[in-house]
Amino acid sequence: MKPKTNLQWEVYNLHSELPPITVNQVDYGKNKCFKPKGFATSKKIWCAECGCEFKRDDSQLSVSLFGVDCPNCGKHLEVNSSNCRTYSPRNEYYTVITTFKGYQLLRHFILMKKCRKGEAATIDCIEVVQLWINVKGTTTIMAKPTNTFGMCGVYDAWCLGSMMEIRNDAYITEKYHIFSNVIKREKLLPQLKYAKIDSNYFGITPDLLFKMILKYPFVETLIKQKQMELLRYMKDNIDKVGKLWPSIRIALKHGYKFTKGHVGTYIDYLDMSRAIGRDMRSPKYLVPDDLHKAHLEVVKLKTKQDEKLRLEKNIKEAMKYEEQYLKDKAKYLGIIIQEGNIVIHVLQSVQEFAEEGATMHHCVYACNYFKKKDSLILSASVDGKRTETIELNLRTFEIVQSRSICNKNSEYHDKILKVVKGNINLIKQVA
Ligand SMILES: [Zn+2]
Repeated sequence: MKPKTNLQWEVYNLHSELPPITVNQVDYGKNKCFKPKGFATSKKIWCAECGCEFKRDDSQLSVSLFGVDCPNCGKHLEVNSSNCRTYSPRNEYYTVITTFKGYQLLRHFILMKKCRKGEAATIDCIEVVQLWINVKGTTTIMAKPTNTFGMCGVYDAWCLGSMMEIRNDAYITEKYHIFSNVIKREKLLPQLKYAKIDSNYFGITPDLLFKMILKYPFVETLIKQKQMELLRYMKDNIDKVGKLWPSIRIALKHGYKFTKGHVGTYIDYLDMSRAIGRDMRSPKYLVPDDLHKAHLEVVKLKTKQDEKLRLEKNIKEAMKYEEQYLKDKAKYLGIIIQEGNIVIHVLQSVQEFAEEGATMHHCVYACNYFKKKDSLILSASVDGKRTETIELNLRTFEIVQSRSICNKNSEYHDKILKVVKGNINLIKQVA
């Protein structure tokens, strides 16, 4: 896509100034990514590196176990028994980590090797992704497009002939945030140099680790304290952990220990505790004796709070229709039908729809019956207790439905219908 933000334009322009990969850099990748191979038949071996064929001196077992040196190119070959004439190992990613004009830059290349008997092996090295990380930890992606062919799970079928462009992050994290087997670390920004990153990047995809350190300086402390469980969890939840750090810091000070497999539970526990308004500086909450019990308790409280908020939101939403309802049904609001212990009245407000719905456990409120212009909703009480809710069609004056608790019929169902039908003229008169 075309650059849109200032940052994207800057990266786009710097990208065009970037020198191509050097011969040295390519050679490093080629040598580290692929092991030299040879293929043995009963009498001969061919070297997949230079393509030459030579006589086998040692036994099959010996060459399989220890390999053999190619007399032509001198490379030490790992030998398999096969009468193949061509060989293409799996494509490999190779990453060069460097800096360019104040950015931490990760250049991801794909290496493709092809070997054929009688010919020297060829290796293509094509740059597919560049990640430009600024000092604030914001990553801008430049990458080639991919061919998806509508296939599920294929996210790295790069269109190698196309140009790199600015990209948005993909649904699959691994598409651009690549953790290559072979990485050449050349230069780091000063902020990253002091973090003492090991050669395995603590098992965290390098660009995500860089982003974590640049965006959240406390990550350096976590590295020094060897809080690897938390760091690895943070890789996929950078901002969630970042936001909760002040509380996590207090918890660590009070001796909280992250155990393998429970970091997510703890962070979710903190996140929910914050949402329900707990004191996020109190060790009483931050260092629970029994995490699973505490987590369960917070889940319950949070669910209750969510339900309450949803109801409040619904009522607020419904109140918008109060005025309209009173206007639409004004002429019916005074109607009261009474026969013996049965009293039937028209619902007086949207608020009363909410009460009727809550008492009767049906959807008269949730399904917005107060909005239906052609329906009149009445409530029938027996001995002062809400018993059934009646929907009357204002065009035909027929009863559409009369429902009691949970949409069932009450024992007064037939009686109530009879009373409504017997008094239908009262309603017709005001219509
Ligand atoms: Zn050779």
